[in-house]
Amino acid sequence: MADDLGQELAIGIFGDVGGDIAQSAIAQGADKVYSVTSPMLADFQVELYLAAAETLCKETSPSIVLIARTNQGREVAPRLAFRLGVGLAQDCLEVSADAATGRLLANRPVYGGNAVAVVSCNQTPQVAAVRPKVYVPLEPDASRQGEVVSFPVDLDDSIVRSRVIEVVKEEAEGVKLEDATIVVSGGRGLGGPEPFAQLEELAKLLGGAVGASRAAVDSGWVPASYQVGLTGKTITPDLYITIAISGASQHMAGCSGSKAIVAINKDAEANIFKEARYGVIGDWEKVLAAMTETVRELVQE
Ligand SMILES: Cc1cc2nc3c(=O)[nH]c(=O)nc-3n(C[C@H](O)[C@H](O)[C@H](O)COP(=O)(O)OP(=O)(O)OC[C@H]3O[C@@H](n4cnc5c(N)ncnc54)[C@H](O)[C@@H]3O)c2cc1C
Repeated sequence: MADDLGQELAIGIFGDVGGDIAQSAIAQGADKVYSVTSPMLADFQVELYLAAAETLCKETSPSIVLIARTNQGREVAPRLAFRLGVGLAQDCLEVSADAATGRLLANRPVYGGNAVAVVSCNQTPQVAAVRPKVYVPLEPDASRQGEVVSFPVDLDDSIVRSRVIEVVKEEAEGVKLEDATIVVSGGRGLGGPEPFAQLEELAKLLGGAVGASRAAVDSGWVPASYQVGLTGKTITPDLYITIAISGASQHMAGCSGSKAIVAINKDAEANIFKEARYGVIGDWEKVLAAMTETVRELVQE
């Protein structure tokens, strides 16, 4: 986008994260890295990060601000846009720049993921929150040159209105759902919590993670952290295997970035088959057992 607009690509890195990250940002495309530092940025605290981001934007006057829609980004982006007196393009799946007008064009899901709207912002800076992992990072090029600018910020602790009292780490074995390159998800058609053990088995053989539809989560079969979809996690694995999931638009909103979807469902008319690259129409019990056996043989070879 910066190239299309003939502008510089700058990145703001918050907290003292060390020179390696700045250098790798340059190797992966940044022209300039603002290293935004303050002793108060050691841990994420929304009011402090927000104040630092606001200062950075006001002093550097970017034409476009892109923020990753991570948990932290979700907190910062709308407030930052408000403080800058502009709107926000939320939850973007794709962003591009119109070289003729200099406008940011952002694709974002609307109507519960049933349609994609292209929005443009008519104020500057144009702020967009982009779903993480929808883009493949550039191959690092160690010969790229860029500038690292030290950007100390003076933050006042009195602006902090919420405090982290405790951080509770969720115990999870194996690969995290959001990071997995292979995900096996189960839905209501599994009929109960027990079959998830078989999904775990297949996921383990493939080195992947297990997910679920909201129906399976709402039934209490698996924890909420398994949920993929509009109100769950957004995943972009290379391979997404869905088992007894109908493919409701709200589920697809969280997995449409998957490179290949494989669906197992007994209903040939299920929506998931419209989205899947490969599909097996049949009873999951028979298909999953055969699939797991074949994968086991292939893995052992
Ligand atoms: C505001 C809102 C937000 C939502 N957010 C989410 C979200 O984040 N994630 C999400 O998943 N949903 C979400 N939903 C719910 C969504 O609309 C669907 O209800 C849900 O995804 C359905 O889950 P499912 O596919 O497991 O169940 P169902 O739609 O009931 O589908 C079950 C499937 O299993 C198949 N099946 C049954 N038995 C077998 C068998 N023996 N072998 C093979 N196949 C079989 C059936 O043919 C069927 O297709 C949301 C809804 C709303 C309104």
